[in-house]
Amino acid sequence: MLAWIIAAIAAFFVLGYFKARLIVWTVAKGLFLAWLCLIFDFSSSTNIVLACAFAAAALAFNVPFIRRKLLTDRILAIYKRILPDMSQTEKEAIDAGTVWWDGDLFSGRPDWDKLLATPAPKLTPEEQAFVDGPVEELCAMCDDWEITHERYDLPPHVWQFIKDKGFLGMIIPKKFGGMGFSALAHSAVVTKLSSRSNTAAVTVMVPNSLGPAELLLHYGTDEQKAHYLPRLARGQEIPCFALTSPEAGSDAASIPDFGVVCKGTWQGKETLGMRVTWDKRYITLGPVSTLLGLAFRLYDPENLLSSKSDLGITCALVPTNTPGVNIGRRHLPLNGAFQNGPNWGKDVFMPIDWIIGGKDYAGKGWMMLMNCLAAGRSISLPASSVGGAQALARVTGAYSRVRQQFRTPIGKLEGVEEALGRIAANAYLMEATRVMTAGCVDAGEKPSVLSAIAKYHMTERARQCVNDAMDIHGGKGICLGPNNWVGRGYQVLPVGITVEGANILTRTLIIFGQGAIRCHPYVLREMRAAKEMQGREASIEFDDAFTSHIGHVLCNGVRAFVYGLTRAALAPTPENSSSETKHYFKHVSRLSAAFAFLADISMMAMGGALKRKEKVSGRLGDVLSMMYLVSATLKRYEDDGRIREDLPLARWAIRDALYDAQNAIDQILSNFPVKALARFLRFALFPLGQPFRPPLDARNHECARLVLEPGAARDRLTSSVFVSKAQDAAGILEQAFLMTVACEPIEKKLRDAVRSGRLEIRAGVETALAASEKGILTPEESHQWLRKEALRKNVIKVDDFPQDYGRAEALQKLAQENVQAKAA
Ligand SMILES: Cc1cc2nc3c(=O)[nH]c(=O)nc-3n(C[C@H](O)[C@H](O)[C@H](O)COP(=O)(O)OP(=O)(O)OC[C@H]3O[C@@H](n4cnc5c(N)ncnc54)[C@H](O)[C@@H]3O)c2cc1C
Repeated sequence: MLAWIIAAIAAFFVLGYFKARLIVWTVAKGLFLAWLCLIFDFSSSTNIVLACAFAAAALAFNVPFIRRKLLTDRILAIYKRILPDMSQTEKEAIDAGTVWWDGDLFSGRPDWDKLLATPAPKLTPEEQAFVDGPVEELCAMCDDWEITHERYDLPPHVWQFIKDKGFLGMIIPKKFGGMGFSALAHSAVVTKLSSRSNTAAVTVMVPNSLGPAELLLHYGTDEQKAHYLPRLARGQEIPCFALTSPEAGSDAASIPDFGVVCKGTWQGKETLGMRVTWDKRYITLGPVSTLLGLAFRLYDPENLLSSKSDLGITCALVPTNTPGVNIGRRHLPLNGAFQNGPNWGKDVFMPIDWIIGGKDYAGKGWMMLMNCLAAGRSISLPASSVGGAQALARVTGAYSRVRQQFRTPIGKLEGVEEALGRIAANAYLMEATRVMTAGCVDAGEKPSVLSAIAKYHMTERARQCVNDAMDIHGGKGICLGPNNWVGRGYQVLPVGITVEGANILTRTLIIFGQGAIRCHPYVLREMRAAKEMQGREASIEFDDAFTSHIGHVLCNGVRAFVYGLTRAALAPTPENSSSETKHYFKHVSRLSAAFAFLADISMMAMGGALKRKEKVSGRLGDVLSMMYLVSATLKRYEDDGRIREDLPLARWAIRDALYDAQNAIDQILSNFPVKALARFLRFALFPLGQPFRPPLDARNHECARLVLEPGAARDRLTSSVFVSKAQDAAGILEQAFLMTVACEPIEKKLRDAVRSGRLEIRAGVETALAASEKGILTPEESHQWLRKEALRKNVIKVDDFPQDYGRAEALQKLAQENVQAKAA
């Protein structure tokens, strides 16, 4: 009897695990029933009744027509009633973009071989030459203190260089005079620039992100493309894109800016056009723009364009010299000196063909914006965050080696080491995510959910890196000036947190909210059947999606439990995974099944209310995000050729992310509204307790060591950033770092001499000279030591200023330049 019960349970798990088809379940249940009849020895009439009941149930479940009538049509009717209505803008946001690896993670069974078979993203030789040439040159031209304190702008020759070298037209195809760069190249340029000057990076990234060029490429008429794209590519037009207004920030679809279709006089002729009134703020490049991309709601009360009077959000291109357009005033975004400000206009008349795509695209602005959002969001902020993180890893490691307290380089003090190791590992994971996400865009995807994950988590990790770096630098990071290489980054970081979808909203509303609908294999099909289809079509589609959905839930529940019981031993890994990373692949496979099951049960338990339960959906989004970050890190390790020296970075980052994912699940379960269900879920997902532990201190030590030593590992970790070779603060820090390491044998000689009483270290007496006089150091060693000391003193110095912080002098310099420019 016991054996039969065990066999029945085992059969349930095997069928669930392998996602058996309904007919197989039916046969299994039939056999089970037959066995029950046998062992209980029922009377023949009971057997006949049971057989008939089974046959009826089998028919009801297996014949789609009967199943629909008896079951799924009724569920569809309830579903239609409870499913909240979606606004047009919500629908367009959901429909936009594509699903890639996020779909695998949502499926509960990620296909690792498919991911690892995706070629490692690489720059073309031409792109690499641009990064090594003009980008390097531009970085060298930028003096961040001059830009952010003296000028509050890029110097004219830097602006000109940006325009002349095609930086503003990186995404514009060559046939229109642009660079025709891949997403990876665009991302590489922004990464490098961000490591030197945030102002330069933002100035370059905005025209290449969501704005006039991107919209024209996808939706522009041939005439618009032929006119504007070459001008944008050559820097003859400075574009901006104005969506945000004082009343509509995160809820951008609610913009009050409006246009009314009407006839007016344009260039002496009666023309069909629009009178547009707007009031925008925070618009990057707005104050210097020549071409304003403008989003507003278009009305057609006289039905001059169509029979509808409210056409919806519309995007137009407006030359900023159009009468009535006001640009020019500036905001001061946390001392970032990129151009940013408000713009406005009242009843400004513009021809109808200024609508991007022409009059056929009137009212399609939101769809256009949503469809173009993913590419830019995959690149700009992830890239600038990675540039920041890699630069911080490099300079903070160097500073921690040069700066000594308690006669020890501060990087070797455990407390500092903890923060330093964290920066290094984060920089590794972030680069992995940047490259994989850009690669996905280059493969033709428009990853709406993954771009939100990359944007949110890269900016948040950059925030963690800059906080850690500030703590390590102490007062050196706090006193601003040309000799401070972290303070401005720390100041300006919240800009990235706020733009392109403010982070709280991105985490709690977009990542899971959109993911649950877009990436889930069945939810969108069910929703479409309920809301967009009618009659038989709706019934067939819903029936198929719903029954598959049930199988999906069952399968993921069983898998999550089995993986939990076997400590992920049965979870899939790629075919050729290495012994050092195999278990991480298994852990993500396990998490994926657990997440998919938890997501479905949460949706069932909370229904439409889950949309408002942002704490829950935020945490579900965290689990999805952590799996993505770990996937990217594993892919990087494989694509790089499994470099063992980098393994501590990958290990630390992966353990940290897995632990975060586990904590997120734990918090969801602790706050789950149905307590009994929470207890069941906890048992199903963690039958042997919570498996993941935080990263080990030993790994953290290895990560910190990589940035405290010059060498290939440090260079690899920071390979995407600019390394100054000039006599500026960053250049001097790099030299001081190398000299400090080179002088360590000399330092040891000096320490030994002091310990043995042959040398005394005294304030006011130059140690190296005294040691040289006593024959403890050779003249060369003494010379080397003195050079190192000069560099070290330079590194630890902080800036001080006259009472007006040098503004008067800077203004005088600018005035002189203006006079010279006018004379020229
Ligand atoms: C420097 C800078 C440059 C910019 N450049 C441009 C540009 O070029 N073009 C352009 O059009 N716009 C631009 N913006 C605007 C930017 O996109 C908005 O600032 C952003 O959309 C947030 O709007 P808000 O600042 O009004 O914040 P609010 O919308 O007021 O949000 C405040 C807080 O509430 C949170 N929140 C809002 N709704 C929800 C929700 N449903 N659930 C959870 N949390 C929520 C947000 O996450 C945020 O934390 C720029 C902004 C800045 C600061």
